Amino acid sequence: MIHPADRKLCSGCCTCAEACPVQAITMSPDPMGFLYPVIDPARCTDCGLCARICPFDKARPQELDPAAEHFYLFRKEMDLEKSQSGGLSDALASRAISLGMVVYGAAMEDDFSVRHIRVEKMEDAGRLRLSKYVQSNMRGIPTAILEDLKAGRKVLFTGTPCQCAGIAAAASRYRENLILCDIICHGVPSPKVWADYIAYRKKKGRKRLLRAVFRDPAEGWHRAVESYDFSGKKLVTDEYSYLYYRCLMDRPSCLQCPYSSMNRPSDITMGDAWGIEKTEYAALADDERGMSLAIVHTPKGASFFIDTPFSVRQEVEPGPFMQQNLRVTTYPDPEANSFENDYIRKGFRYVNRKYGKVSLRFRIRHWIGTWKGYQ
Ligand SMILES: Cc1cc2nc3c(=O)[nH]c(=O)nc-3n(C[C@H](O)[C@H](O)[C@H](O)COP(=O)(O)OP(=O)(O)OC[C@H]3O[C@@H](n4cnc5c(N)ncnc54)[C@H](O)[C@@H]3O)c2cc1C
Repeated sequence: MIHPADRKLCSGCCTCAEACPVQAITMSPDPMGFLYPVIDPARCTDCGLCARICPFDKARPQELDPAAEHFYLFRKEMDLEKSQSGGLSDALASRAISLGMVVYGAAMEDDFSVRHIRVEKMEDAGRLRLSKYVQSNMRGIPTAILEDLKAGRKVLFTGTPCQCAGIAAAASRYRENLILCDIICHGVPSPKVWADYIAYRKKKGRKRLLRAVFRDPAEGWHRAVESYDFSGKKLVTDEYSYLYYRCLMDRPSCLQCPYSSMNRPSDITMGDAWGIEKTEYAALADDERGMSLAIVHTPKGASFFIDTPFSVRQEVEPGPFMQQNLRVTTYPDPEANSFENDYIRKGFRYVNRKYGKVSLRFRIRHWIGTWKGYQ
């Protein structure tokens, strides 16, 4: 039986719950809104499948063929402003759909929650675009992917490396028809804090909130600011981004993520080509419209990637592009534990005032910084 009590050893991929042959496991939110398996002892037969299938603490690295592993800069111009970096994810999804494959990825729902969805039509693929800085709900996804694969469909799955590891474990018998693309991941924040933040924004905005964009590409690739569309009036702020980048509200397993390395559970890794400005390729991205980094790990990933239409595709040496989460896990903020305790006891507005950009401490520090700048 798995040990859901240890929050650091569960990424919430839902694979154990969906593999359980007697449906003894349900995924239930903790006070931060992160899903964890809860086992019904009356149903559990102690068969041990959940512990065997759990990919997290085993972090089974696949056999990587160094000859097949390549780093590329990638950009696809079409509708680039609707993508987070160079549009790689959308280019791969469009190619998959044109080949009759089924695509799975993270989408934002009308209530602003984030969950993985299944997409078959080109017009729906747009819902997967852009990074959603909150953990995506994977309920039902391992089962749906297995059903597609059993029916002979080919599948492209995009998500965090821990989600890809869960899908790889669930669908190990059908791996040849499954392409896994993971993102370089800095950590996934709490769905409940995000829901509270949206409620707070709606209350402050007074008008109807139509759209939220976590890192709005229209504001520039390097500017980590989010935007909100209140019935045609755009608000640009970094209030939520500030909490996110402080790593105050990440899932506990992110802080010892076994995939923050080159041992990826995927065929292709997608990320931002951070650091490009210090290389000979700087001019390719000096328009601030974003550039993707693609790391192709397997021959299957290579043949899919190579035939994907592009505007820029440039093979590069890994060195300058080995950003933090390809080497080490995200460092926890020393205040992360007290943030969680305060949030659970006192709620969102309290922690936003105490730890966020609206905090008195932040404003004093910012004021001193600005004042010093004039000395
Ligand atoms: C929480 C998070 C942290 C990230 N941290 C980094 C980082 O440290 N360094 C870096 O280089 N890149 C990071 N990225 C990835 C990066 O921001 C881009 O999403 C990626 O480069 C793809 O950009 P694109 O232009 O190809 O695709 P886009 O068209 O922008 O597509 C976004 C892709 O990301 C997937 N996705 C979006 N949100 C989620 C989510 N919450 N959970 C799972 N999958 C999701 C979608 O399924 C889609 O495939 C992060 C993304 C997320 C969601």
